Amino acid sequence: MSAVRPQHAPLVQFPVVDDCLQIGGMPLTRLAARVGQTPFYAYDRAAMTARVAELRRHLPPEIELHYAMKANPMPAVVQHMAGLVDGIDVASGGELRVALDTTMAPLNISFAGPGKSDADLACAVAAGIVLNMESAGEMERIAAIGERLGVRPQVAVRVNPDFELKSSGMKMGGGPKQFGVDAEQVPELLARLGRLALDFHGFHIFSGSQNLKAEAIQEAHEKTFALALRLAAHAPRPLRMLNIGGGFGIPYFPGEGRLDLAAVGENLKRLLPDVKRALPEAHIVIELGRYLVGEAGVYVSKVIERKVSRGQVYLVTDGGLHHHLSASGNFGQVIRKNYPVVIGNRVRGGERETASVVGPLCTPLDLLADQMELAQAGPGDLAVVFQSGAYGLTASPGAFLSHPGAVEVLVGSDEPAGGGV
Ligand SMILES: *Cc1c(COP(=O)(O)O)cnc(C)c1O
Repeated sequence: MSAVRPQHAPLVQFPVVDDCLQIGGMPLTRLAARVGQTPFYAYDRAAMTARVAELRRHLPPEIELHYAMKANPMPAVVQHMAGLVDGIDVASGGELRVALDTTMAPLNISFAGPGKSDADLACAVAAGIVLNMESAGEMERIAAIGERLGVRPQVAVRVNPDFELKSSGMKMGGGPKQFGVDAEQVPELLARLGRLALDFHGFHIFSGSQNLKAEAIQEAHEKTFALALRLAAHAPRPLRMLNIGGGFGIPYFPGEGRLDLAAVGENLKRLLPDVKRALPEAHIVIELGRYLVGEAGVYVSKVIERKVSRGQVYLVTDGGLHHHLSASGNFGQVIRKNYPVVIGNRVRGGERETASVVGPLCTPLDLLADQMELAQAGPGDLAVVFQSGAYGLTASPGAFLSHPGAVEVLVGSDEPAGGGV
């Protein structure tokens, strides 16, 4: 008996009809014709809408949801999200412009990130959005810019916590970090803040990303609230905002399961009453990127060549790591594992085989699927990478090897499609 191989978590966003994936209410083959080229990314409105609804079902009603738009900054996606969530978090001046083009109120837009330029800060101050300050130096620059513009800056302090989010795909707090002000230095910073012409809103405490373990997130929430309450004693005025980060992960690789959202929600319901008593004016915010959009997107490329090398089948496609670095395994993964991949126009297929899906780049890193079981495919067939709605096109080295770019489309009605592979 061979060992049972770990499987990808079931994908439920996109139905299959007559063995063809349906995306945006039409067969993938027709969608490819309507897009007019491969490769392309397609993002589904209904999947995003359903995800936000699911969060709202499980989280306490007081929790506000922000979209961290660096996960997917396509303007149409950001506009769609703006109608669903309570705020947008940006991480650059460019993202700020996209966020300001939506209907989101400026005070519900926040800007985090180290190394904000004076030009970025001036745009943010003039717009009246909330700046999550990453250092004492940045605070002084913001105050000077506010004075020059005659506008009182809206600010929060990003805190580098004195703990880590355990089992996190990417740790973004704890220990020495370029992000935020070390928790132990925050009281001194707040004393100085109180003497500057700055409008203080609260704290932003983000400890990590891509976490699938409810217990780890629950523990981080508990520690985050405790830290916030300790620091609030030093604030120049009562907190109006407490951003407790996010870090909710999605299953990418074989053997990964879904985050137990109900457990995270229950824990928050248990913790919130004490927090609300201590910080009665504070809006409690959770900011999420990939959890909101990651499962709503696919990346589609077309098979150009099918070749067999020493017994191994290679499907050479027109897409690859230049559009989708993370599916190739080169965006922060330690050990390369396969994203869920199917042949979209023949999901089950008549015959199945083990094949690798590669791109056109002259590097062995350009690998979208490494020896996966797929329907037998050849030129013209469409290779689909799921879980591609976040950290896809804009997180990839598009200029590498000077191949054509990928197109992005936002598809579908606002009605959940249902179904699954
Ligand atoms: C990147 C980032 C996020 C989003 O992380 P996800 O893993 O996509 O949810 C949220 N907050 C901050 C401060 C970030 O830098």
